Amino acid sequence: MDRIETRALVAGKWRQGSGDLVQSRNPFDGSQITELRFTDASDVEEAVAGAKTAQTDAAWREMLPHNRARLLYRIGDKIEENAEAIASLQTLDTGKTLTETGALAASAAGTFRYYAAALETLEDAITPSRGEYLTMSVHEPIGVVGAITPWNSPIASDAQKIAPALAAGNAVILKPAEWTPLVSLALGRLCEEAGLPPGLLSILPGHGRETGAAIVSHPAIGKVSFTGGTQTGLTIARSAAAKLMPVSLELGGKSPTIVCDDADIERAIAGILFGIFSSTGQSCIAGSRLFVAQSLYAEFVDRLVSATRSLKVGNPRDSQTQVASMADHSHRDKVAAYVERARDEGGKVLCGGTIPGGKLRKGAFYMPTIIADLAPDAEALREEIFGPVLAVLPFQDDEDLIAQANDSVYGLACGIWSRDAARSWRIARRIEAGTVWINTYKQFSISTPFGGWKLSGMGREKGREGIRGYQHQKSIYWNMADAPHPWAGV
Ligand code: NAD
Repeated sequence: MDRIETRALVAGKWRQGSGDLVQSRNPFDGSQITELRFTDASDVEEAVAGAKTAQTDAAWREMLPHNRARLLYRIGDKIEENAEAIASLQTLDTGKTLTETGALAASAAGTFRYYAAALETLEDAITPSRGEYLTMSVHEPIGVVGAITPWNSPIASDAQKIAPALAAGNAVILKPAEWTPLVSLALGRLCEEAGLPPGLLSILPGHGRETGAAIVSHPAIGKVSFTGGTQTGLTIARSAAAKLMPVSLELGGKSPTIVCDDADIERAIAGILFGIFSSTGQSCIAGSRLFVAQSLYAEFVDRLVSATRSLKVGNPRDSQTQVASMADHSHRDKVAAYVERARDEGGKVLCGGTIPGGKLRKGAFYMPTIIADLAPDAEALREEIFGPVLAVLPFQDDEDLIAQANDSVYGLACGIWSRDAARSWRIARRIEAGTVWINTYKQFSISTPFGGWKLSGMGREKGREGIRGYQHQKSIYWNMADAPHPWAGV
């Protein structure tokens, strides 16, 4: 990766998009990184036509699974060889700490390797037949799939869609988020260098309402895999319904974290801080509602507040930094406005709630914030803030806890801190969420499915079955009998 790629990848050609000229900014200090021309609906048209040709070409359609797997392994290797450069570019574009973007780059390489291995080991089925015929359930690629990703962890979100979609034999049109297209374009270069045939992957930086909407509504796109906000997900689902297109939707969250009265307090405090304040709270799975057993509440919240005050807020390239800037100044202002409204609604801001000055004043920084005393219907308890803002509440007993924790339109994740195994199990089973962590938080494995309940999403990514989301199932009945068909000679 010798330079920052700003051109779009359209049907195998690197060229400027046909849309407007936009500036890409570094949220750490507001400086301009580069300029790029976005794509529009005409570029989507060209990318889809190229993808159809490439996907149906015998070279790809008939590529044997082990050869497709080799290609994915090579992409994984390319990402690993360029991991430092990718991490650095993502830090520039998103403002995230280098520690985190390094881990995301490593995970993206792992995702390609996982799907290479999965693709070679997935089996179709011979099903029990009810006569002299062979019955089979097999799987075919969907064709051309759209992938639309958000700005918070672009390299990981992109890999999580591109790897299984290619493993399944599709072509992919990827639209990265407006604020963070650079790392996605870099990934496109690496896929090309690894030998991915031209046209199979197009990368179209662009506006959601234009390029994104054109991908979703295009008649030749057979599936859209979307990660982003719930309102956008609902818009996409409505558009998909009009052509009965399958979609997978990884959406927002307002995840509860629970501290039972038997918890290991030190571990819980460290896990809770990481759960909400890593990625500066810009994480779908951020543990943004904290429920603490009433008997511990006052002392625990005091300790949590002082631990929060000691977090290192600063330059994302400093290995000591724990909380960096947000991804964009406008998003920081949105988060600050949420906190102001929480104050107006009677919330007590125990720490943070401010935009730092001094050396950090030019960046999109917001101090880690804890708010107490919010009423159950307060906006800050109901809506996803997507920033470093934690709401704390007490609970009386497990029934009260379950009722409060499940009282949300979201159902993405949950954390439980308890030394009591049976109790943890009971709570974990009753929580309405796609992922539950017990005595840990934000741990992931590519081999374990991920997705949301309720308004947090639909469908699952990751795991071997992740490939199936990019395939059509087909049943085949094959006559094995010599006997003539009963209607023969009619
Ligand atoms: P967003 O919904 O604003 O944008 C996501 C993507 O959708 C962007 O690429 C955007 O350009 C595109 N888009 C916008 N309008 C569109 C339209 N009408 N048609 C097609 N595409 C359109 O979300 P964001 O602000 O980029 O990301 C933050 C959100 O993403 C948060 O809600 C967060 O919880 C969620 N998220 C979810 C997961 C998950 O796995 N569940 C992971 C990361 C982020």
